[in-house]
Amino acid sequence: MSYTIAKNIEEMVALRKRLTGKVAVVPTMGALHDGHLSLVKIARQQAEHVLMSIFVNPTQFGPNEDFEAYPRDLEKDLQKGRSAGVDVFFTPEVSSMYPGGFATYVVPESPLIQKWEGAARPGHFKGVATIVLKLFNVLQPHVAVFGLKDFQQLLVIRKMVADLNVPIEIIGAPIHREVDGLAMSSRNVYLSPQERVRALGINRSLKRAQKAILEEGQTDLLQLTETLKALIVTGEEVSIEYALFVHPETLEPQKTFEEKTLFIVTAKVGRTRLLDNILIQK
Ligand code: AMP
Repeated sequence: MSYTIAKNIEEMVALRKRLTGKVAVVPTMGALHDGHLSLVKIARQQAEHVLMSIFVNPTQFGPNEDFEAYPRDLEKDLQKGRSAGVDVFFTPEVSSMYPGGFATYVVPESPLIQKWEGAARPGHFKGVATIVLKLFNVLQPHVAVFGLKDFQQLLVIRKMVADLNVPIEIIGAPIHREVDGLAMSSRNVYLSPQERVRALGINRSLKRAQKAILEEGQTDLLQLTETLKALIVTGEEVSIEYALFVHPETLEPQKTFEEKTLFIVTAKVGRTRLLDNILIQK
């Protein structure tokens, strides 16, 4: 089956005009893995045409982050994306998305932006919201699919879409994992074999959290957090940035389990920052 690539905004806009019927988009930064492809599968069920953007967005990276080093392999991505069902790839250059003189940003301001990833990565969600709205305007999809792995990002996008009346349905897709439970991530390639093993403590803590709450009836989330943190730190390579239970809508910390909770973890394994979470509800 053939696919089309649009390498700049002009090509993409011209191509989009020729598409009739429902269009779904899967925005990515490339270095595709099966997690991305599971989003494509969901997009396929929603629409006649599946568009995938592949763009490492500089404005969502901080000055000391891995923008330059971020893994890039367009040829492989096209192959994987196509076999999963992508019809059109949008692969713009930075200069096409941010031409000289670019000066207008979307700045999310709700309290849920200030916490966790927003606090750890100042400006990150400004970059995310800006690029996502730009992609929406260029691609004009009916539906967009985002992963629950980046839970806070999904909330930020939902809020932007609601606040700015963006007429696009946002779908959240489950976290796709390796057989041993590690959440798939483009950054997993940074892990050494030993770090890869150490990283498994994160998933162990998520499963333990679920069992403790749903099967053993634990409700004291502060006490449980201490047990879970000990499971995450499997060696001196692992350091926790944050690991706690929060309300899944407000992301405010929770002390007691009632109906539902989200356990969120961000930990550094060696130099690699890994994010994971689990939604636990009765
Ligand atoms: P990225 O290329 O890392 O910006 O991710 C692109 C999209 O894929 C985002 O919506 C992510 O949340 C989603 N994603 C990344 N990893 C996974 C995963 N393991 N499972 C499900 N979705 C994922």
